[in-house]
Amino acid sequence: MALTDDTDRDGQFTAQLRHLERHHLLRQPKSLESATGPVVSIDGRQVILLASNDYLGLATHPRLIQAAVQATETFGVGAGASRLVSGTLPPHKELESALARFKGTEGALVFGSGYLANLGLIPALIGSGGMIFADRLCHASLIDGCRLSGAEFRVFRHRDVSHLESLLRRRPARRRTLIVTDGLFSMDGDAAPLSDIAILAERYDAQVLVDDAHGTGVMGERGRGTLEHWGVESRIPFHMGTLGKALGGIGAYVVGPASFIAYLINTARSFMFTTAPPPASAAASVAALAILETEPERRARLWANRRHLFSGLRTLGFTTTDSLSPIIPVLIGEAERALAMAEKLLEHGVYAPAIRPPTVPKGTSRIRVTVTSEHTSEQLDAALEAFRKAGKDLGLI
Ligand code: PMP
Repeated sequence: MALTDDTDRDGQFTAQLRHLERHHLLRQPKSLESATGPVVSIDGRQVILLASNDYLGLATHPRLIQAAVQATETFGVGAGASRLVSGTLPPHKELESALARFKGTEGALVFGSGYLANLGLIPALIGSGGMIFADRLCHASLIDGCRLSGAEFRVFRHRDVSHLESLLRRRPARRRTLIVTDGLFSMDGDAAPLSDIAILAERYDAQVLVDDAHGTGVMGERGRGTLEHWGVESRIPFHMGTLGKALGGIGAYVVGPASFIAYLINTARSFMFTTAPPPASAAASVAALAILETEPERRARLWANRRHLFSGLRTLGFTTTDSLSPIIPVLIGEAERALAMAEKLLEHGVYAPAIRPPTVPKGTSRIRVTVTSEHTSEQLDAALEAFRKAGKDLGLI
């Protein structure tokens, strides 16, 4: 088929889309008519949103908005180029200092997104000749980073440190080794056993990369993330996380020793060869970090809401994963049924998406419920009632 033949190409795309639709795997993002929040407008109706990673409601916080507006007025809309080309603007510098202070590390480096950070970070850490051991349920951006690195890539069973150890033990001698895991798993809401992983890393002379996208701002006494939760901040020298979830904005960070950060500036291609994030997003993240430190009550409300919804769903008879976080996946099974459940929920006033393969393994399609600090008890009760009705309609409970 000639590549220039548009008719053929269109036919090919349509056929692929039909194939996805037949298997209930077609994705069509819903259009919102409002800002994100505990309640959003879809098709002219107000529905309770149980789908966002804006765990602390900071995406619409007036202080973040003000910081973004002020930075835009002062520094403009765009950064102009990669920081290696046109220099670092004050908001980026301020954000990296604030992140290092918050995390208690020597340095920090900001990337345009978590996806970009992982694509740059992993190949900077390891290359062909090295070996990567990754949890089976690692985020797609970690898997893609692993593939891009050219290192030999093995998966260990989800959160199974015995399996990880058996793979490490059988590894050929003197191979550079990297263990890769999410801190909190994005589609399961459960946590990686970081204390055990840190012990194995020390025993087998491996480096560890934790992706704390979902733990940042949520886990740990002070919201520093899953490393704080497990008490391993001093044992795992660097990690990454994102600014687009509990911190309400966009972007990602790597924190660690100053030499490591300087090394990344010179080797992480997704930092070197892309335009720096907008000054507004960096300034908004600085404001978000300040709120994390000064308003711990947001985290307390988040955890109270999480308990409310989790116990309510369990009491109704739904099956959840071993979640210990504000991500509460309700397991359904086949993609078709998960889609039907999401549609019923929407009819009953709740927007929570069906998560299907390839995002999750086949046969484990689910409704990924997330809760935030900003949902009221009344909204959560209304959401549980919607789950009860939808679950009964479909014979799930
Ligand atoms: N890592 C994990 C665990 C994630 O869940 C996500 C986003 N869903 C990312 C990385 C990518 O982050 P970003 O959205 O900033 O690209």
